[in-house]
Amino acid sequence: MAINTTEYHSLTKDLTASNVRLVAVSKTKPVSDILELYALDQRDFGENYVQELVEKQGQLPSDIRWHFIGHLQTNKVKYIAPFVHLIHGVESLKLLKEINKQALKNNRVIDVLLQMHIAKEETKFGLDEAELNNLLNDPELISLQNVRICGLMGMASFSEDMELVRSEFQLLKGIFEREKQLQTSNLKLETLSMGMSGDYQLAIKEGSTMVRIGSLLFGARQYNT
Ligand SMILES: *Cc1c(COP(=O)(O)O)cnc(C)c1O
Repeated sequence: MAINTTEYHSLTKDLTASNVRLVAVSKTKPVSDILELYALDQRDFGENYVQELVEKQGQLPSDIRWHFIGHLQTNKVKYIAPFVHLIHGVESLKLLKEINKQALKNNRVIDVLLQMHIAKEETKFGLDEAELNNLLNDPELISLQNVRICGLMGMASFSEDMELVRSEFQLLKGIFEREKQLQTSNLKLETLSMGMSGDYQLAIKEGSTMVRIGSLLFGARQYNT
């Protein structure tokens, strides 16, 4: 299935006007779809399965900035460490340490976002504010010089209730503003990754700097599993 070019153009126009970066979420979609967007100058793409990401990366132009937006298992970090541009879903010191280790092996610094739990749904991953605070103040953090914590990521409830969604984005933005004060050599919160196809306009109103959009651009996903 082809990508929605009209939607892409109006979306990028809106986003550029509000200075928000677009991560085109290409999970489950073929490389031909990614190349269509690439031809329109899109360079940031997001995937949430390690194996799928590695396969696509090998087949596509090397100047694509790959975002890992899924739940990353410690034992899989090594596969994406050589090339990943930004890892959105980090929520433990253990994972940070592994990313640091693999980044060091590849002689690079890997940027990460910490994932916050803002939705009412228990199934979603992420830290609460107290856990975030503990992590950011952990004395071990400063020794991890091959990772850079450059922001926060969150997913709102999958809900028709836009006031609920708004309040969750506001919660995340509030935490982001408070924790921004804390800066070290490997910690500087500048990116706020929030907003998907169904709620990105609201996310931008509430202060998002990066949206992750899939179905709006690529059409609905079909899962075989
Ligand atoms: C799939 C996914 C998206 C994109 O979802 P759409 O509703 O298709 O825009 C964004 N963020 C994460 C973490 C995802 O897994």
